[in-house]
Amino acid sequence: MLAALGCAPAPELLTEGQLSAALAVAEEVDTTRLTDDVAMLVEAHAADPGEVVSPWDRPHKRRGGEATLLAAFAKLGVDFKIEDHSGEGWEVHNIVVEFPGATRPDEVVLVTAHYDVWYQGADDNSSGVAVLLELARALIGKQHARTIRIVAFDAEEVGLIGSARYFRRHTEDDVRLVINMDSVGFASSEAGSQVAPPGFTLPEVGDFIVLMANDVAAREALIMGQLAGALPEPLALQGAVGSDDHRSPGTGDFHRSDHSQAWAQGTPGLFLTDTTNFRNEHYHTETDLPDTLDYGFLTQVGQLVVAGAWAMAEEAE
Ligand SMILES: [Zn+2]
Repeated sequence: MLAALGCAPAPELLTEGQLSAALAVAEEVDTTRLTDDVAMLVEAHAADPGEVVSPWDRPHKRRGGEATLLAAFAKLGVDFKIEDHSGEGWEVHNIVVEFPGATRPDEVVLVTAHYDVWYQGADDNSSGVAVLLELARALIGKQHARTIRIVAFDAEEVGLIGSARYFRRHTEDDVRLVINMDSVGFASSEAGSQVAPPGFTLPEVGDFIVLMANDVAAREALIMGQLAGALPEPLALQGAVGSDDHRSPGTGDFHRSDHSQAWAQGTPGLFLTDTTNFRNEHYHTETDLPDTLDYGFLTQVGQLVVAGAWAMAEEAE
């Protein structure tokens, strides 16, 4: 069963003080940097011949994006590591940047996006990776209670391989929430621009972000709704909570990214997406390019993710 969060005002789950603290960090998200970072990542993918992997007949690209992302983190001066999960025919490099919590470092808020792409992958998923970079910038020099861990997953497009191996290796981690982004930069104000996935009802204008939660993250989903409505420019959000088994028809299409590997372990997880092929005709084609994105929309999503990560990392025990 789906419990739609819809457009109804979200309950006030964060106090005024918590809300304004989260929004203050979110306001550091910068449209020009997001635009430049998407362009930088796309340029790296464009220069990478990639590899055509059976059964797909299009170039899968990762190493150019990986090198560019590592260089960007190095330039920020943050510590990063590559978790090598190679084996079973796939070399997998997940990129991890950790901001340790000041008082509850063992409790982890995970913010994730995959960095591998088909073709140049502007929306899918340079948009999400650009937000990871903004989150890292915003966290530099700040203190928060829980650890915030940024993970850029490898090999999502070929079957969630990077995230599957990550969550298999990290079963002992005390992950309080996963916020996963996959394709968060495409929006349209035109009537009829949004198609609803089977079993799901959505507005016909594709100018909102979709947020899917599993049962155990229902409260965090409501907090994200509260934050979305409180942004300098409020972000329209369509949310839903899936059932425990995630087999309801409406949630099927929203399992198609790395968060589903966390959901499979019962870890609280949120998934943010512009709904890809239900809105974006460039999905998984060579025309998924930077000039098709809406950078105002991407900025709002970036602010929501930064505010959400901050609020969850500062949550009272
Ligand atoms: Zn994707």
